[in-house]
Amino acid sequence: MKLEQVSETTWAIVDASTYGNVGCIKLPKSVIVIDTGMTPPLAKKFRKLIHKEVGEPITDVILTHYHSDHVFGTQVFQDCTLIASSAMAAIYPELLNNRWSPEGIQELKEYYVQNDPAFAEQLKDLRIITPTQTFEDSMTLGKENEVHIQHTGGHTAGHSTVYLNTERVLFAGDLVFCQQYPYAGDQTNNPLEWMRAFEEILKMPVEIIVPGHGPLCGKEEIQIQLAYFKKLETWIKAQLSEEISLEKVLQTVDSSPTPPYDLKADPRLKFSIERWYTFYSQDEG
Ligand SMILES: [Zn+2]
Repeated sequence: MKLEQVSETTWAIVDASTYGNVGCIKLPKSVIVIDTGMTPPLAKKFRKLIHKEVGEPITDVILTHYHSDHVFGTQVFQDCTLIASSAMAAIYPELLNNRWSPEGIQELKEYYVQNDPAFAEQLKDLRIITPTQTFEDSMTLGKENEVHIQHTGGHTAGHSTVYLNTERVLFAGDLVFCQQYPYAGDQTNNPLEWMRAFEEILKMPVEIIVPGHGPLCGKEEIQIQLAYFKKLETWIKAQLSEEISLEKVLQTVDSSPTPPYDLKADPRLKFSIERWYTFYSQDEG
């Protein structure tokens, strides 16, 4: 696990050791963390690295979205203000009643005991911690409001990005999968919001992007992903206008537009196509 310095006052772990990428911003009197990684022990290690290489105190943690690889380390930061969009926080009650209920978490742990015992060990003490501060569209932190948190939606409902305008660094969360297939299979995924967020970022003077997965990149990565999304949208709409069933579409994903870096064999492609088919068939397009 390597905490890499991104700019004068930002750091990130982008080596996949925390599964979802994590990062932090150092303000004059405090440190702000962005996302907490996949497991409590990994988050503990991340926090130790911040203590050693960045400083203290950590006051706020911004959660970009509810996927487990970005929030399952949150209990390690329970002494901080846990910030998320209100749309993200609104998903928690349902999660806590189903997938993340005590029984649901037990099931998850048992799955890993059977399939990946080492990983199961990491989830042993997992607790689900909910956000403690929410915002509607955007909020700012820092003395000069230099940290801008923007609700974007897209990858999931309630997704947000974090931008340090003084250094032009964007923590993009899972809006950006650098050199990886952009997973769009979440049941709350909204392709229109995702593409709108891309258009907005392209207008901003962003210089460095910390993606949710993969290495640091620049805006050219967004251009690549956006071009693909537009082609995929056209393809999905064509399937719908020809009234081809979802079942049939899923059998022909190989004829869908070629994803960036030709990552066609990725099973996430199928889930993404399934979600977009459902989304556009519900007239949301
Ligand atoms: Zn995600």
